[in-house]
Order: sequence, then C-alpha cells, then structure tokens
Amino acid sequence: MALELYNSMSRAVEPLVPLDPAGKRVSLYVCGPTIYNYGHIGNFRTYVAVDLLRRALKHFGYQVDHVMQFTDVDDKTIRGSREKNLPLKEFTSIYRQAFLEDAKTLNIEMAERTPNATDYIPEMVALIGKLIEKKSAYVSDDGSVYFRIASFPKYGCLCHLDMANLISGARVNQDEYEKEGVGDFVLWKKWVAADGDVGWDSPWGKGRPGWHIECSALSMKHLGEQIDIHGGGTDLRFPHHENEIAQSEAATGLTFVKHWFHVEHLLVDGQKMSKSQGNMYTVRDVLAKGYTGRELRYALLSGAAYAKNLNFTWQGMDDAKTALTRIDEWRKRIKAAVTDGVSNADSFAAAVAFREQIDRAFSHDLNINDALGHLFQLIRETNKTLDAGQLTAAQASEVEAAWIALDSVLGLGDATVIIPAEVQALLDQRAAVRKAKDFAKSDELRKAIETLGWKVKDTAKGQELSPS
Ligand SMILES: [Zn+2]
Repeated sequence: MALELYNSMSRAVEPLVPLDPAGKRVSLYVCGPTIYNYGHIGNFRTYVAVDLLRRALKHFGYQVDHVMQFTDVDDKTIRGSREKNLPLKEFTSIYRQAFLEDAKTLNIEMAERTPNATDYIPEMVALIGKLIEKKSAYVSDDGSVYFRIASFPKYGCLCHLDMANLISGARVNQDEYEKEGVGDFVLWKKWVAADGDVGWDSPWGKGRPGWHIECSALSMKHLGEQIDIHGGGTDLRFPHHENEIAQSEAATGLTFVKHWFHVEHLLVDGQKMSKSQGNMYTVRDVLAKGYTGRELRYALLSGAAYAKNLNFTWQGMDDAKTALTRIDEWRKRIKAAVTDGVSNADSFAAAVAFREQIDRAFSHDLNINDALGHLFQLIRETNKTLDAGQLTAAQASEVEAAWIALDSVLGLGDATVIIPAEVQALLDQRAAVRKAKDFAKSDELRKAIETLGWKVKDTAKGQELSPS
C-alpha cells in the first residue's frame, strides 16, 4: 500500500515517492531541539508525531535514514550558559541528556544520527563560503555574513510570503524573528563581547554560525543535497525552514526537500502555551502529577491528527489512562487465550480485516484516529467472542499478531515494557556496580528501584525488571 502524506509546501496530500531509485530508502531530516532548557510537551508533540511517521515508514517497508540535530549554539544557548556561568558545552550537554531521557520516557525511537551542531562548524563555514562565491551571501560592514534574499526569487515559497512588501537591504541579526522582520538573514555572526568564549575562526574573522545554516549543512553532510522528508514544528516554517530552503537551494541549484512534514501547535486548555500563563508543562511536570510516559504518548498521539492543533487537558490525560487500561485488559485476555485456548484452523475474520484497515488508515496521511477506531472495534469483537468462549488459540494468535503490527506504529508497548528513564538509569548503574562486584551498592540501588515501584530480579541473562 502506498503511503500518502500531506506536503505543507504544495498544501496537498501526495504519495511518497522516494528519491532512492530502488524506492526503498527514505531520508528524513528533523529540526532538533535547542538545548537550553527542558523540552515542553509542545516540543514533544512534534517528536512523537515524527516518531509515528518514522514507525509508519518502517511498517510500510521503507528503510529510514533519519537525522536530527541538537542546536547547541545560538542566541538562547549562549545567553543561558552565561546566566548559569557554565561553559557552553557543559551547559548544553545537561539539556541534551534531559531530552534523550524524556524521549525514552515517551518511547520515541532516536534518529540514526543526532549530531551536535558545534561538531560541524567546518561544514557550515564551507557552505557559507560557497554561498558568498555564488553571490547569494555577502560580508556586511558589521563584519557578519548575510544571505541576500533578493538573489533567491523563490524566497517565501513555503509560507507564501508576499515579497513585494519587502524592504530591500533590511538585515536581521537574530536567529528568530517575525514575518514583519523579513530581510537578509545572518549566516555567520561576528563575535561580540556578549558571546564570551564562544567563537570559531573563519575566513570572515572570529564568530559563530547562525541557527538556520546548521540544518542546511547537517542535512547535506549526512543525507545528501536532496532529501525526501523534512519535519518539524509548524512554528519553524518561518523563518527557519524558509531560510533553510534558500541556503540549500542557492548552494546546490537542486530542490532541497520533496515533502515538508509540519506538526501543528499544542494548546493547553484551549490556550497558547506560555511561561506567563503557567501552562508550559515539561514531560517531567506531567510525570510528577502521577501519569506515565506511556499515557502522555497516547494523549499526544490520539488527541488529534498531526496536521491539526491538539488541545492538551488533564481530562485528556485521564482519558488516555482509561483507554490504555482497556487495551491492557484486552491484551491480557488475548495472551491467556493464545496459550489456553483450543487450536483449530479457523481464521478470525475481524483480525484479518483489521490488518487491512490499519494499513489503509496509516497510509492515508497517518490517520491515527481511524486506526484507533478500528482497534477499539476489534477489542469489542474479540471480547464478545471471548465472553462466548468461542475464540480459539489460533484465532487469539491472529489477534495478537494484528496488535503487534499496529503497535509497531503506535509504539505503546505492553504496560510493563516502558521503563521510566530514572529507573533505567538506576538499572544501568546497578549493572555497572555488579560487574565491579560492589554488592553493597547493588543492594542499595535495588532498594532505590523498589521505592519507584519496580522489582528487579538477577537472572543468568542479567537483570529482569517488573512492576511491583
Ligand atoms: Zn532546522
């Protein structure tokens, strides 16, 4: 079945036709987090939606080559590191680690490559050099390098900007700005005193890359000059993605991206999230209220299609908990029926139909609500058949296989499978101290794990974890 996705460039649902002549490999670039604080649930809505896309691609047999960068130098990271009085690298590594832990809590599969932007400064310098050579960029009298948007007639194509209103010669030195501030944007920022010890040498003097050039350079470095899908939150469309297109296409003369995958906003109780409203929750804030990462994942996935606004509410979290309990109880019954039932060759029609239904749902722009609707229909039908004592072991196995196919895309797992990041960290630590034969410390860690509601058993294969 062909996968169709909404392309926010053409504003139409289009079949995915990979650049790969064999039609197998799909290159996916996703703008990663700026690591200057903990990610909020709006950020993670995007990464959960990208995870759904990634898993669906694999479900349909594509080989996914996924890159997501960590922005570890920009206006915000420099400001944050100076406020905390920490070297930039030390400051950003705290939030890189926190992001990876939160992603694990939400059972998000990590990209094949997750480079830090500052590890690729020479690539960025080379790309800026190429743009200057092509006269698409210039060194200004303030010593910074800017992209000349007048040299790129397509500028504004993603956001359908009316370029007639553009003030010619206007320049922006910030990484983020509004549409009203459109103008030549910075590629290389000359070092200023506020940058402290952050700066790299370049042909244009000491400075640092602008935020936008990071993604063009890293995407080209790891995935080539053209990519199949570029994803990110809708708030990145302008100026970030518009600027990525300009930089990349001016340098290569090729279409940078085939499909633009934008995830819409997350609202909280119908309001825009903001620090001043007090409704900007992190993943950790949600866990602190007694919910699990699995419940949050379900709420972020099931609340709305990725291309629509999603309204986060605590009622929605409770609904997620109820829905998962229903799925888990059904799963227990199915598992028991696989082993206890009487086997025969009859097929369970509902399970067979279900496999086609979910493929159809996901192939049409990842229609999650449709897929979940079919799941609850299957749950009703199997429960009814089980109540009547008519589901055979073979049929239960079919239902089990159908669930596994669905869950390869949903990533919900069994209730016991998703281990909170803090428990995993203790487990890892315990494995290390056991290797060093420090059994007193190992017991201490076992107790710490138990206080978090988990039991750990030592077996020949290693530690085995279960909820207590
Ligand atoms: Zn980007």
